[in-house]
Amino acid sequence: MATKHTTYFNLLDALKEQGCHVCFVIKKNAQKFMVDFLYESVNDSDLRKEIKESVGFCNRHAWQFHKFGDGFGLGIVYEDLMRLILKRLEEVDGSSASLKAILKQLDKDEQAKKSCIVCKEEKDVEGRYISVFLDNFDDPELKFAYENSFGLCLRHLNLAIKKNKNKKLTNEIIAFEAAKFNGLIAEVKEFLRKHDYRFSKEKFGKEGDSWIRAIEKLIGKEGVY
Ligand SMILES: [Zn+2]
Ligand SMILES: [Zn+2]
Repeated sequence: MATKHTTYFNLLDALKEQGCHVCFVIKKNAQKFMVDFLYESVNDSDLRKEIKESVGFCNRHAWQFHKFGDGFGLGIVYEDLMRLILKRLEEVDGSSASLKAILKQLDKDEQAKKSCIVCKEEKDVEGRYISVFLDNFDDPELKFAYENSFGLCLRHLNLAIKKNKNKKLTNEIIAFEAAKFNGLIAEVKEFLRKHDYRFSKEKFGKEGDSWIRAIEKLIGKEGVY
């Protein structure tokens, strides 16, 4: 399967990056997805239909889109969405039935907004990469890369364990992650020790950003849910 091939090599590359490799591929793919959307697919009718169903993008992705600064592409999408909302508001004729209907619609929209097209893309990428990670775990190259990597954030550890049916593999992953926590705790301790005024002349080593890596370990990369 060609895609698995590409996914596998992307995964190997991601393991060499800083931080959680699953977060890394999600973030990278989401960025590409958003750029491709803005520059190629703003007028794609299927995507526009999906965007209408989720009343635009979720909060996180709407503001990520905003950062691209493409007022033209987003203006087209949002004009369309505002027309849709306006139409619904204009249908309120003062009757209880119409008020009830708009409330129901607004409630429905609130739910729909939680999963926008970029969220769906992220979920898809997340599932795909975790599967390839698990399916190829015994591949020496992948194992070596994983053992020398940051490991998984807690969310992706959870998903990897849930997806995995192989008990031996699960235990291996848990043991590896525990070792990573141990190492990171030692680094944070060293960081805190050097912060102490008595050691203030000592320069920080690789533990200098250990507190940031601790945040990532627990909550994943910024902007990835
Ligand atoms: Zn992660
Ligand atoms: Zn989203």
